[in-house]
Amino acid sequence: TKLVYMFDESKSGMKETLGGKGANLAEMTRIGLPVPEGFTISTQACNTYYDHDQQITGDLKEQVIDSLHKLEQKTGKKLGDPSDPLLVSVRSGAVFSMPGMMDTVLNLGMNEKTVEAVAELTQNPRFAYDSYRRFIQMFSDVVLKVDSYFFEQHLEETREKKGYAADPELTAEDWKEVITGYKKIVRDHTKRTFPEDPQEQLFLAIQAVFDSWNNQRAIIYRRLNNIPGHLGTAVNIQSMVFGNMGDDSGTGVAFTRNPSTGEAVLYGEYLINAQGEDVVAGIRTPQPIHTLKTEMPEVYQQFVETCNRLESHYGDMQDIEFTVERGKLFILQTRNGKRTAQAAIRIAVEMVKEGVIDRRQALLRVDPDQLNQLLHQRIDDSYELKPLAKGLPASPGAATGHVVFDSDDAELLSQSGKKVILVRPETTPDDIHGIVASEAIVTSRGGMTSHAAVVARGMGKACICGCESLKIDLKKKEFRVGETVVNYLDTVTIDGATGELMLGDIPMIPPELSPEFEMLLSWADKERSLGVRTNADTPEDAYKAREFGAEGIGLCRTEHMFMDAKRIPIVRDMILAGTVDERMAALEKLLPMQQGDFTQIFEAMNGHPVTVRLLDPPLHEFLPDKEELLVEVTKLQLTDPESPELKEKEQLLKKVRQLDEFNPMLGHRGCRLGMVYPEIYMMQAKAIFYAASSLIEKNIEVKPEVMIPLVGHVNELKAMRQVVVEAAELVAEESGKTVDYTVGTMIEIPRAALTADKIAIEADFFSFGTNDLTQTTFGFSRDDAETKFLQHYIEENTLPDNPFMVLDQEGVGKLVETGVQLGRQTKPSLKTGICGEHGGEKSSIEFCFKKGLDYVSCSPYRVPLARLAAAQATV
Ligand code: ADP
Ligand code: MG
Ligand code: MG
Repeated sequence: TKLVYMFDESKSGMKETLGGKGANLAEMTRIGLPVPEGFTISTQACNTYYDHDQQITGDLKEQVIDSLHKLEQKTGKKLGDPSDPLLVSVRSGAVFSMPGMMDTVLNLGMNEKTVEAVAELTQNPRFAYDSYRRFIQMFSDVVLKVDSYFFEQHLEETREKKGYAADPELTAEDWKEVITGYKKIVRDHTKRTFPEDPQEQLFLAIQAVFDSWNNQRAIIYRRLNNIPGHLGTAVNIQSMVFGNMGDDSGTGVAFTRNPSTGEAVLYGEYLINAQGEDVVAGIRTPQPIHTLKTEMPEVYQQFVETCNRLESHYGDMQDIEFTVERGKLFILQTRNGKRTAQAAIRIAVEMVKEGVIDRRQALLRVDPDQLNQLLHQRIDDSYELKPLAKGLPASPGAATGHVVFDSDDAELLSQSGKKVILVRPETTPDDIHGIVASEAIVTSRGGMTSHAAVVARGMGKACICGCESLKIDLKKKEFRVGETVVNYLDTVTIDGATGELMLGDIPMIPPELSPEFEMLLSWADKERSLGVRTNADTPEDAYKAREFGAEGIGLCRTEHMFMDAKRIPIVRDMILAGTVDERMAALEKLLPMQQGDFTQIFEAMNGHPVTVRLLDPPLHEFLPDKEELLVEVTKLQLTDPESPELKEKEQLLKKVRQLDEFNPMLGHRGCRLGMVYPEIYMMQAKAIFYAASSLIEKNIEVKPEVMIPLVGHVNELKAMRQVVVEAAELVAEESGKTVDYTVGTMIEIPRAALTADKIAIEADFFSFGTNDLTQTTFGFSRDDAETKFLQHYIEENTLPDNPFMVLDQEGVGKLVETGVQLGRQTKPSLKTGICGEHGGEKSSIEFCFKKGLDYVSCSPYRVPLARLAAAQATV
């Protein structure tokens, strides 16, 4: 098989074989750009190398030598020739660009003899010896594994000894001395002499580049970017051009547009009299590209033309490496440049306007995951951070505020105009008001799908979870990290995108929704068929989501409406009620409050469908904590045994104990509450219909969809549907208005998915609650999983991703697919959607589209992402 390709013999579209760098070098050669000649060893060769115990096979060796001869013919020079030596670079280059992650060796072919020839031919011994020492240093680092540090140190000593301030002051003789020192370092560290034979150098370098595919950096980079480990890297052997031949030479890197803002201006830097690596490694401060216009006007002109040509050839912003050798320009690399979200959007939209790409291509140019960057205030990138602690990056965005340790304090202080950050060991639904009042939330326990994180993301608030190094003392109102003590009201800044917590105030950049962003999303809407709804519990969320383009509410949770400070006593009365009548009395008081909530939300959605989920969490979540209550009761028993407060608290404690469950996640919750206390669901359903009919009165369209949670058996849904129908009839009779409504269920128990054909008889719609469905399918309790073992699973590759963030398509997804198929078998018109974190995750969204779901529903701040991802799934 063919394993090696000359730059001018391959065809386009061979990126998988040649790697990105190799494919583009070949492409640029074909279109006639000045690229130094060379050849590419394929990625298959790399895989063969790994299959053969990391040995270069005879076949590959032959092909390399054959191509080398061709290169020698083209250049008229020979590797190792003592009169006119060929010098080459050996460059890594994977299919997906992994900038700087793998290794490259420059100036290969230098030895004691060829260096003399180079000195002679160029009439520039200083350049020749400088190049040789660079080669020794790079080769030793990459191939012989002698750390560059030793060479740098030696060079530094030499400079000092000679009284030089910088490298350019070294003479040829000085460099010769340095080279002697370098070779001694190699002998001392490797117990061998530095290889003199250029062919040996070449094969050792090829091998080292293959090996660098599996160095630590590369592995981590691949993991972060989901690049498969089996692809392998190609190796490019290219004849050298020299930017370090004097003041008429140089090297640089440029982007054809600004990769940070997207502005269509050349953005780059260069160095006179230097080799390529110098720019990236930051040995000297480079100059801005526009000064090249005065320093080398012709080269600059040619470079600008080449940039334009490359950009229009590839139809995307390019990141270009170039070198100038004695006034002649060479292009050494081009690739699609990496960019911020802001830049990605602006570039995509402007390129459509310029006629470079069409709208569908533009949609694919922006990574939905990046959009998050645009919807949250960010820490100024130019600021150097010194994090005090690091937790899980649970919700992106950055915030500065005063530290508070409980939700009431948070509320009080924020009402007085202070910005606060709520720091808690963990949060419960009781903290909702504290979360609302805070700029950001930090917990020392709990994972990224913990309550705090889910709520924070829903509100677009920054959040860090599981920040275990925080030792919180709620009594003293302080937390410690090692020796550092942070007190109540001290100022901290957090970055939810990285999980970092910093002391003090750090400059921020506000979010901006650019017109380009709106434009791109409007194109996405035209392209997609999958609906995008939002999860919203409040009118504020509903308005926010509409602003971001949500087409309805896919999940309106009603439990938060019970958490309001004014309502909680009534909710408690309802729970503590001894008889049905007592419970009804409490429910009567709650009804108008719920009705008010629904009225506002329906109004906000203005005719778009709203899926309201009836009460879901176990009742004890609305009662005080058992341990805390016990302490209070004991105190009162000792200090004030006759007080009525004690009676009340004892009563409460009794109920709390009664409601205590071994495993609340699988306990008395969801429709199981409605089955035992139908009057609760009845009240909620009536509130929905009263709200709806009052709006119909005002000529506002309303489309309520009543959703029953946690159904596992069709009989549960049948009974609960009956309750809803009854409520609707009652209200219709009273108000004289008929509300157009549907009743459906959440599919979040495997049994429901597996018997979806039966359940569909009673359901108008299914909404896959994939948070709970993931818990119940894996049998993972999510809070425990995320803090105790899931991280380990992911690190060990037991699971590819956190299944609470990225839908497990193989398992949980199969249940979704089964549910859709079985349900539609019974009822072809069955509407299906997904709510839960996955509704805002791009690969899960694509899955939902492929499986024929009607819509996804996600938190308001994820709506733009979902619109784009849904469009991408169809393109
Ligand atoms: P990376 O993938 O880390 O960018 P490269 O293979 O692109 O590594 O090499 C790094 C730098 O070395 C390039 O930016 C280029 O300036 C320089 N370089 C590589 N090959 C040559 C060559 N044949 N002639 C001159 N400079 C080269
Ligand atoms: Mg490069
Ligand atoms: Mg659920």
